[in-house]
Amino acid sequence: RVRVRFAPSPTGALHLGGVRTALYDYLFAKHNGGDFVLRIEDTDTARYVEGAEDYIMKSLEWCGLIPDESPIHGGPYGPYRQSERRDIYDKYTEQILKTDYAYIAFDTPEELDAIRSEFEAKGEVFAYNNFTRNRMKNSLTLSNEEVEKLKSDGVPYVVRFKMPVGRQLNMEDIIRGNFSVNTDTLDDKVLVKNDGMPTYHFANIIDDHEMKISHVIRGEEWLPSMGLHVLLYEAMGWEAPQFAHLSLILKPEGKGKLSKRDGAKFGFPVFPMDFKDPESGDVWKGYKESGYFPDAFINMVALLGWSPANDREILTMDEMISEFDLHKVHKAGARFNPEKAVWFNHEYLLKKSDAEVLELFKELDEVKNSSLNDDTLLKIVSLMKERASFIKDIYNDSKFFFEAPTSYDEKASKKAWNEETGKLMQELADQLQTLNFEPETLKQGIHDFAEAKSLGMGKVMMPLRLSLVGELKGPDVPDILSILGKEESILRLKNAIS
Ligand code: GLU
Repeated sequence: RVRVRFAPSPTGALHLGGVRTALYDYLFAKHNGGDFVLRIEDTDTARYVEGAEDYIMKSLEWCGLIPDESPIHGGPYGPYRQSERRDIYDKYTEQILKTDYAYIAFDTPEELDAIRSEFEAKGEVFAYNNFTRNRMKNSLTLSNEEVEKLKSDGVPYVVRFKMPVGRQLNMEDIIRGNFSVNTDTLDDKVLVKNDGMPTYHFANIIDDHEMKISHVIRGEEWLPSMGLHVLLYEAMGWEAPQFAHLSLILKPEGKGKLSKRDGAKFGFPVFPMDFKDPESGDVWKGYKESGYFPDAFINMVALLGWSPANDREILTMDEMISEFDLHKVHKAGARFNPEKAVWFNHEYLLKKSDAEVLELFKELDEVKNSSLNDDTLLKIVSLMKERASFIKDIYNDSKFFFEAPTSYDEKASKKAWNEETGKLMQELADQLQTLNFEPETLKQGIHDFAEAKSLGMGKVMMPLRLSLVGELKGPDVPDILSILGKEESILRLKNAIS
């Protein structure tokens, strides 16, 4: 059975890269009829950020990526928080120490500093590995009696991986293909810290095994750890899952990894939801609060590094699930394009029915507090949504429907109004009084009026628009008139004249 996990560490907000990993995990699992598991990797207490776990879960929920198993949903392989799995890790710590793949080390921080300096003095970098471990204070260099003595004296120790000597590891990554690494380039990573808690590497492979994970899909920053992980599975006598490492999401200009600072600098969100940095108190802008629809957001994220067949761009979650293929995920980094994100939202806005948009429109405070009835609001929505990317754009572009102009744009007035215009508008108002306020009738009526006055349409339309809107912008004038209605339109004309 295909089982995929998303395994974030609660060290901060989930960002665009994290969402994409979770999404690909989800799409791959669902495409294969498998399970999507959320596991919280919180063994590193020093980097733990209050509220981050909750933020991650709420964000996934907003994105529609609901885990089959998680700390809140439970499941057969729980607990799903690493901090609650200590017993399980203890058992496997004992197990790996019985093999030739691990040893315990007593080196103090001072001793490690000393040897680092010694290497530095030679212009080298110290690594605890198969070239240096024989000079260090560990169970490979000390006698059994010494080890037992130190342990019973309560001297702190860590468990390290004993990297095999001179082995060429051939590995396969679903996205990157085959590659190999020589174990002599890898060091003896700490598996269990001196407080007895496993490090990321050890806890991660234990949990992936225990939770029967079949595919590990994660960011490329973990590719250098794959050798160690493969060897850890070997050490434990377990079959390793398959691996797929996703490339970076790049800055809009193409160079370098997209960061939260890029978003802050250029005014676009890189987090699914607003996130308040507990240290600085800064609030990082989220997609949700910026007015993105979750499905538009997810569609945009899906295409950061994956191309569906026929270069299709707009796909529902179900379509993505049925098309998703890890082999079609790009090896190269995906450039993030903020304008494209806005474009997706626009497309999703257009996909919605007027009635659906109306419901969202009515959630805006400005609309909630207005006196316009649903009928009028629906007309506004259907007229204005075409040019909007966000629900709030509809309001911003149609404010004049909610409030009569209190002033008139100066430049526009110069252009549209002269001494005779007041009289002309008065006559037009009288004409309008007799008309039925349907856009077609109004259009014809204004046309006839202009013709009777031997004026070009612009000479009539411009001052009329200015009177209704306050500036020379907005949709077609007959549509504006029709929505405002006879009474309000004529009132606005009168106000403009006086
Ligand atoms: N806890 C790791 C992270 O935050 C998980 C990496 C993995 O998926 O193995 O990225």
